[in-house]
Amino acid sequence: MGQDLTIVMYHYVRDFARSRYPDIKGLDVAGFRRQLDHLTSRFQIVRMEDVIDAVRGTNELPPDAALLTFDDGYADHFDVVFPILHDRGIQGSFFPPVAPVRDGTLLDVNRVHYILASTDDPAPIAATIDEAVEASQENADVQTVADYRAAWAHPNRFDDAETIYIKRMLQTALPVDLRESVARDLFARFVSVDEATFAAELYMTRDQARHMVRSGMYFGSHGTSHVWLNHADDATRRTEIDGSLDFLAELGMPTEDSWVMCYPFGGWDAELANLLREYHCTVGLTTRVATAKIGVDDPLALPRFDTNDFPQ
Ligand SMILES: [Zn+2]
Repeated sequence: MGQDLTIVMYHYVRDFARSRYPDIKGLDVAGFRRQLDHLTSRFQIVRMEDVIDAVRGTNELPPDAALLTFDDGYADHFDVVFPILHDRGIQGSFFPPVAPVRDGTLLDVNRVHYILASTDDPAPIAATIDEAVEASQENADVQTVADYRAAWAHPNRFDDAETIYIKRMLQTALPVDLRESVARDLFARFVSVDEATFAAELYMTRDQARHMVRSGMYFGSHGTSHVWLNHADDATRRTEIDGSLDFLAELGMPTEDSWVMCYPFGGWDAELANLLREYHCTVGLTTRVATAKIGVDDPLALPRFDTNDFPQ
């Protein structure tokens, strides 16, 4: 039972024919238009305010309701997505972390995407990582190259072994200080020596976000610095939430009695949800793949589909 809600998650949406980085994994603008044609023929696209009302039991969703969500605050979302949605009278829900949009910080997750997209041959990138590991063997937290490769260099259905090895080493396997310094070095060598300018081009600005809010788009929290909130301590969780609520208030979004959390990396647990309830958060979006059932699912842990789950 419950009211069905199909939530779709998007990241990069751009004109890949004109992109300097055609190997970035994302949705082409033509595919986005086709997907909207498909979704609007099968579903009724609702506003986030409709979902909040349904969660509160003050209104019901239409049958075949769908909601469109856009993570990470990319400039794509202002340049490409916003005009298309605005033309069609559809609301999108956007979740920019604070740091890239307000402070121009490049997110770790994006640094790794562009390092991998900078070349067809992952071998020199993996070799650079291995050199850094060998040069850090006196650090007790650093394992040997052989151990790391045995643990992480395994292909999956999307990526070959070298690519997976690079991703896992830079995302999680290496101690945080080492992986940040290695990722910065790789970015400077393979992508750009000017990270600040790169970040300014990658993310939307605060003024653009304000403009989108004034035009009826919905903005919610994606944390401040895009960390795994379920793995963070209580003080970090509160800092991340407080910072993002201040930012949403600056954009003109309500933050007092209803707002939406989109968990970075989908990182969610029950304790985090309890903290969010203290903050009057109404809806939480995860990356579990399913149709959301309003009235059945915990509203602070609603599942989402990926754009790749639908025709493009
Ligand atoms: Zn994200």
